[in-house]
Amino acid sequence: GGPVDWARVRDDFPLLQRQVNGKPLVYFDSANTGQKPAAVIEAVNDFYRQHNANVSRAVHTLGGEATELYESARRKLARFTNVRPEEVVLCSGTTFAINLVAYSWALPRLKAGDTILLTRMEHHANIVPWQLVAQRTGTRIEVVELLPDGSLDLDMLRAKMTADVKLLAVAHVSNVLGTVNPVREICREAHRHGIVTVVDGSQAMPHRPVDIAAIGCDFYALTGHKMCGPTGTGALWARRQHLEAMPPFIGGGEMIKEVRFDGTVFNDAPQKFEAGTPNIAGFAGLGAAVDYLDALGMANVEAREQALLAHLEEELAKIDGLRVYGTAPGKAAVVSFLVEGAHAHDLATLLDIEGVAIRSGQHCAHPLLQWFGIGTTCRASLAFYNTHGEIEAFVAALRKVRGLLG
Ligand code: PMP
Repeated sequence: GGPVDWARVRDDFPLLQRQVNGKPLVYFDSANTGQKPAAVIEAVNDFYRQHNANVSRAVHTLGGEATELYESARRKLARFTNVRPEEVVLCSGTTFAINLVAYSWALPRLKAGDTILLTRMEHHANIVPWQLVAQRTGTRIEVVELLPDGSLDLDMLRAKMTADVKLLAVAHVSNVLGTVNPVREICREAHRHGIVTVVDGSQAMPHRPVDIAAIGCDFYALTGHKMCGPTGTGALWARRQHLEAMPPFIGGGEMIKEVRFDGTVFNDAPQKFEAGTPNIAGFAGLGAAVDYLDALGMANVEAREQALLAHLEEELAKIDGLRVYGTAPGKAAVVSFLVEGAHAHDLATLLDIEGVAIRSGQHCAHPLLQWFGIGTTCRASLAFYNTHGEIEAFVAALRKVRGLLG
């Protein structure tokens, strides 16, 4: 598309009009969850007002409409990421998606003597499922460390791709550092070594064009609520051969062809992995979210966020005693920082009084913060709907509250 009118885009987000503690809200916590445009809220609303029925094979009209909304979300997500809908498993989010790979792909295959390769910057959702598999199989976990700027040590990654490594799980974009990992190159190298690759796309999907086919991974996990969609929606993309070979993770209705007490015939993938009544309203909303992002154009979204990031970094660089964690070139618009003499939680609490929402804490990435030798950070994370004016308001509020603490 052509140039985007970002002021009008912001008006699409009802929540961003509100005040917090008597101040205009500055929402800088989109890495945690994203805000929703009216089109998404209306799609959810419209589902319950007009189409509510189950996706089970009811022959009535509403059942058909509900099924069509659910399946159209799958098709939209597939087109948006350049993959085939039959390879998209709809689920509750990245956490479920990664657990599905862990339990259905890894658990039956990995054994003592095998290695799972992770990186220092993974979210707990891309660590803990692998630890659970490792405990049950005797598999080892190896960790690829970072360079001081928060980028992956790619030499170490290559050196660790030894014959015992069966699986590599890596974030596309770090939720703490903003580092964008060269997942295409990483997956190509991994495949040369016969290593199966899992990419955690949670923080990439909302912020840049993602072409899963071009990345060439085996599995790509994503979460809907960070990409303008409702909570409790997400997907796992997997190569068809994996989906066919994997046993179901959760059993129940919808995922079967025939159930007998002497044996059950499972449905084909992806339905084989979608037992029970799904979050149909949520997927109606996620379909609208994909349409919304697609209309904006993800290249436009990325350029907008890079401009906001450059402004934020320039302003933060002027604040004495403020240190940013994660300065890799080309990083996404996530800025983790600490200010000398101020605890992260104190800063975030005082900023909230000024109407500014940032996250403070460990960001579900304990090993990463341990590596930096720190307990917590503040994290300001941006989205395309933020404004340059908000960056100025944030920085002014930060200077003010820092004065209160110092
Ligand atoms: N991975 C990354 C990099 C994330 O940022 C998040 C969300 N904070 C997750 C995984 C987990 O996503 P969800 O909670 O939606 O399952």
